[in-house]
Amino acid sequence: ARQFFVGGNFKMNGTIESIKEIIHRLNDSKYDPNTEVVIAPPALYLLLCREHLKKGIEVAAQNVFDKPNGAFTGEISVSQLKDSNITWTLLGHSERRVILQETDAFVAAKTKAALDGGIGVILCCGETLEQREANKTLDVVTAQLSAVAKEVKDWSKIVVAYEPVWAIGTGKVATTEQAQEVHAAIRNWMSKEVSSDAAEKTRIIYGGSVSEKNCRDLAKEKDIDGFLVGGASLKPAFVDILNAKA
Ligand code: 13P
Repeated sequence: ARQFFVGGNFKMNGTIESIKEIIHRLNDSKYDPNTEVVIAPPALYLLLCREHLKKGIEVAAQNVFDKPNGAFTGEISVSQLKDSNITWTLLGHSERRVILQETDAFVAAKTKAALDGGIGVILCCGETLEQREANKTLDVVTAQLSAVAKEVKDWSKIVVAYEPVWAIGTGKVATTEQAQEVHAAIRNWMSKEVSSDAAEKTRIIYGGSVSEKNCRDLAKEKDIDGFLVGGASLKPAFVDILNAKA
């Protein structure tokens, strides 16, 4: 069985004080020990989180660069994450694809670099509302993932996060049917284009307006293996989401 996985993506939110508060809340709360928990704070607070979070909660960067150390102002390298005990990174979040104009190929190159350097990747994919309405959802998502499949054969350290752009930060969560349909299609794609082993073992998590109210129903779907939580990861409700499968 695939271990339930919940990521908290703080995006560009928080202060030293508010993030310490979240850390203490997580350290002190009881939640399902079978849930794998990974927290992605802004880069400036990665070390703070790693220093104060209890063992068992991992820390993720929100992005990483694909080149080794060197003259790349403003970027952070895979080896620097390793050096700081940061074991995961998000890649390909729609806010980076849309606002920072990251291409599928760039996301794929960074995914390869992270995995080669021993960092796990929460690989985000998802369609815009316009693309969904044009019936392009699966084309878009499989194109995003195919770019990675071209570079990466071993998917054992990838968690795929399906995040429909229209559901992010909008309060408009995908229905359980909509999410399950895309998750199943991703798994089917994976069985053909990566391997049946990867299709069976890779966690495919959902993101987009996940809350303490909708998480339990979503978690019942057979291809939803967890969540990538934005806004609610900053709140006490995050602990309820960690227990969605309990
Ligand atoms: P919200 O949970 O705030 O909709 O954000 C989802 C997301 O983008 C997580 O990466």
